[in-house]
Amino acid sequence: MSEPSPSASAPSKGHGHLTLWIVVGIVLAVVAALVAPDFSSALKLGGDIFLNLLKMIVVPLVVTSVMSGILGLGDVRKLGKPGAAAVGYYLVTTLLAVIVGILVVNVIQPGAGIDGPAEVARASAEEKMHGPADPNAPKTIGELLRSLTMLLFTDNLLKSAAEVQLLPLIVFAILFAGILTIRGQKSGALVDVIRQVNDALMDFVLLLMKLAPVGIFCLVAARFGQANASGHLADELRAIGKYMASVLIGLGIHGLVTLPLILWLFTKRNPYRFIGQMSKALLTAFSTASSSATLPVTIESAIDEAKVSPKSVEFVTPLGATINMDGTALYEAVAALFIAQAFGIHLDLTGQIVVAITATLAAIGAAGIPEAGLVTMIIVLNAAKLPPEGMMLILSVDWLLDRFRTTINVFGDSVGAAVVERTLPAAGD
Ligand code: ASP
Repeated sequence: MSEPSPSASAPSKGHGHLTLWIVVGIVLAVVAALVAPDFSSALKLGGDIFLNLLKMIVVPLVVTSVMSGILGLGDVRKLGKPGAAAVGYYLVTTLLAVIVGILVVNVIQPGAGIDGPAEVARASAEEKMHGPADPNAPKTIGELLRSLTMLLFTDNLLKSAAEVQLLPLIVFAILFAGILTIRGQKSGALVDVIRQVNDALMDFVLLLMKLAPVGIFCLVAARFGQANASGHLADELRAIGKYMASVLIGLGIHGLVTLPLILWLFTKRNPYRFIGQMSKALLTAFSTASSSATLPVTIESAIDEAKVSPKSVEFVTPLGATINMDGTALYEAVAALFIAQAFGIHLDLTGQIVVAITATLAAIGAAGIPEAGLVTMIIVLNAAKLPPEGMMLILSVDWLLDRFRTTINVFGDSVGAAVVERTLPAAGD
């Protein structure tokens, strides 16, 4: 029933080359931002064009790829095992990430020796806060679970599509494709159309990847240039360097030890080769700071380079791009505990468990867009009764940390696709 798409079966030529050019683009961009920050900031136009081209295809691609994934299973009733495996994988890896973050922040103690309230006063004087914290943010775990559940259901598909809320679109795609599999031959033409649109969109992604080195150069140069031009970068890095180090060490452990171990245990794949195969997606995640915008590249790399079955990739990565955010969860836990330390608030084991659970849920609720994690952090702070003003301490470097956590988010989705592949039914292959 499931023919691999042409783009899925044909190994993309020049993969190593392209990755190399993207890396060259990123290095040149950082150099340009250091040497000529104003010129680099002006490259934003090029970056925005590339980003919009990627974002433009996210909604149609999510719908057709999830549908093709379900159609590939042949019978929606076979979804139970891979579905449970995917959700189990998302939850376990996110919790593991949070635990690593909590351990690291307890060892490094980045907030010790920082006078939180005084720092916040200084930061407010410089008016760094993006806006007031959302007073409607859920305050208890029950409220949070309720609002997360409601994220799955929309009363208006077009509105969700226009606002790029992927979860209700995925729910619709699963149900609709499920109905098509039950209708069988009667809907054969429609099934063909869906598959062809999906294949054509993947070819679109391949075309965009040809532009990637330039697009990524512009994106990175513009953002780093802007940070450098504002003149504060070096000072900020010095002031909260230990906090940044805690987040980066935590992400490093999760991305280079925990996830590779899971990949190896469940699939016996060489994890470090897998990282190489996913490198275009990981570099795009770093450059765009958005799991959703990276999704087309994640799907393409997982299928074409890492050779994970399209059925698994099409099912696991779109859902993962919105709900599986290991990097974000880790960062939220580290940031919350950093704020507690800086304000001299002692969180006992129960307090830290509340942070762990809410950071996991808040990461599930975060959209795959830049700095979404910063917004859902307020949920963690509320639940752990930490001062929301503490967010001011971490605002100035969030754009940079966002890139690293998004990279880990995307890597977690790709590993998930490879792990869940093992649970797919053999029928239909
Ligand atoms: N930017 C992240 C992502 O798209 C979400 C976040 O942590 O802000 O995966």
